[in-house]
Amino acid sequence: MQRILEPGEIEALDHNAIPRVRLPQRASIFGDRARRLKQLAAGNPIGDYLNLMASLAQAQQQALNGLSGETDSHARDQARNNLAQTHLLPLILATDQVRSPHWQTVLDQLLEQLTKASGLPPALIQLIERIRQTGANQRDSQAEAILRRNNEIVDPASAPFYAAALQVICSDLVTRFDVHDVPLLDTPGLCPCCGSMPVASVVRMDGQSQGHRYLQCGMCAAEWHMVRIKCAYCDSTKGIAYQSIEDEQAAGAAAIKAETCDECHSWLKIFYQEKDPYVEPLADDLASLTLDLLMGETVYARRQGNPLLWQAAEG
Ligand SMILES: [Zn+2]
Ligand SMILES: [Zn+2]
Repeated sequence: MQRILEPGEIEALDHNAIPRVRLPQRASIFGDRARRLKQLAAGNPIGDYLNLMASLAQAQQQALNGLSGETDSHARDQARNNLAQTHLLPLILATDQVRSPHWQTVLDQLLEQLTKASGLPPALIQLIERIRQTGANQRDSQAEAILRRNNEIVDPASAPFYAAALQVICSDLVTRFDVHDVPLLDTPGLCPCCGSMPVASVVRMDGQSQGHRYLQCGMCAAEWHMVRIKCAYCDSTKGIAYQSIEDEQAAGAAAIKAETCDECHSWLKIFYQEKDPYVEPLADDLASLTLDLLMGETVYARRQGNPLLWQAAEG
């Protein structure tokens, strides 16, 4: 159940001065992510993949910049905003974006950008060509399946490219709002901007957010505040524990932990900006696959995967 807080509760929240939502920065969301992915690729077991995703993120930034002139969607957003306030919904719904008039164009732009790189492996060239040749209706059903996490229909190899296009659409719409437009949902584990689940969480160290934990949305990249030592999925504050990779000397290992919940047996990564100022939750999540592999051997399940790496086994 979702509800909007009473006016008194909102005031109480305003007084403590913690930014409740950090909207993504339109001019740099994907560019920053691309830079971080490149940085993390060096010496990483999946370095080649991270470099490919860095190129994809760079293409996402260009595509997002290209959507800036689309004023028609801005008007639609405002209408959505009103709906959100009266019906207690997130600002937009990521699951609706397969109806966006722009998403397929963005997908083509991303693929076009990627093919400009030299020395692409033949398998990747074939994959890109296959997505380009896919008909519009079939692309829509694939996007729908990805957004609704319908494992039987999703093609894992092409899923990251579809997800990347949909991320651009979500970020485009969300960054057109003012942070004060974002409703307070009664479902703390869902993105108040687009209704998606978090990809990871981060304890920030910058400005007013210092020392506070934020969940980052896997689709629109908005971050929303959630107190520390609390399960993002069942809201429990009991039975929360932290696990980390044993070798703290391993690159970046000290900046990552798995937050586990004994109430619902979920886990979520938590990054510490204090340990690594350049942390970007989605990029860092992708680059720390080793922790996922280790957690895969425990009783805890990851509820939401990384949109740039489709893993069919997700619960
Ligand atoms: Zn979102
Ligand atoms: Zn839980």
